Amino acid sequence: MRLPIVAGNWKLNCSRESASSLAREVAEVPVAGVEVIVCPVSVHLADVAQVVAGTDVALGAQNASAQESGAYTGEVSSTMLAEFGCKYVIIGHSERRSLFGDSEKSCAQRHQAVKEAGLIPIFCVGESLEERESGNTMTVVKSQLQALFDLAGPKAFNNAVVAYEPVWAIGTGKTASPDQAQEVHQAIRQFIFAQDSDSANALRLLYGGSVNPGNAQELFAKPDIDGGLIGGAALKSKDFLAVCKAAAPNT
Ligand code: PEP
Repeated sequence: MRLPIVAGNWKLNCSRESASSLAREVAEVPVAGVEVIVCPVSVHLADVAQVVAGTDVALGAQNASAQESGAYTGEVSSTMLAEFGCKYVIIGHSERRSLFGDSEKSCAQRHQAVKEAGLIPIFCVGESLEERESGNTMTVVKSQLQALFDLAGPKAFNNAVVAYEPVWAIGTGKTASPDQAQEVHQAIRQFIFAQDSDSANALRLLYGGSVNPGNAQELFAKPDIDGGLIGGAALKSKDFLAVCKAAAPNT
């Protein structure tokens, strides 16, 4: 049995004060049987770490450098994130790939750096609308996954988390249907299984893309969907907690 995870990606949407109060509201309500993660921007990590210390809520970052140290202005290394109490790091979010030029190779290097620092990457993959409509969903997703195998070998996904986030569903209000999501999740697990069955069986595979309290339960009921990566609905504690509860076993 894989422990379900729900991670809230706050992006650039909280002030210092609202990040702490949102974290407080989330941490006040334990959700049994689900690992709940909040991912503020780096400059809010210290504040939010203090708020969630001693609670069941884990801390995540939104990106990490591929480098450990050196002349890389503006970057933050995984070791530094670990010093602030991070357990998880989102890598390869579609906004990073499309807006900031994070290539497949650089995402793989960042993923590796996160693992080497003892943290757990949440590695995002997903296709654009054009890629889906031209029948290329799995070609795109496999290529994003393959970059990790190329760098790190068959154990690349050992103790990792993957988030399938169709780009056309992120922040758009359009959700993949539970069947569409399950189809891709199953294919991702099979692709990883072909390299390493243990990693694939243990892999926690999250769905992301306009998840909300109204659609979460149906998505999370699918056998290969082990939780969610949540954007918009993570900005209101009531909605986020409802999504977290929907991931609990037997809801
Ligand atoms: C995301 O940013 O990863 C995301 C899934 O956002 P939303 O839930 O708003 O679609």
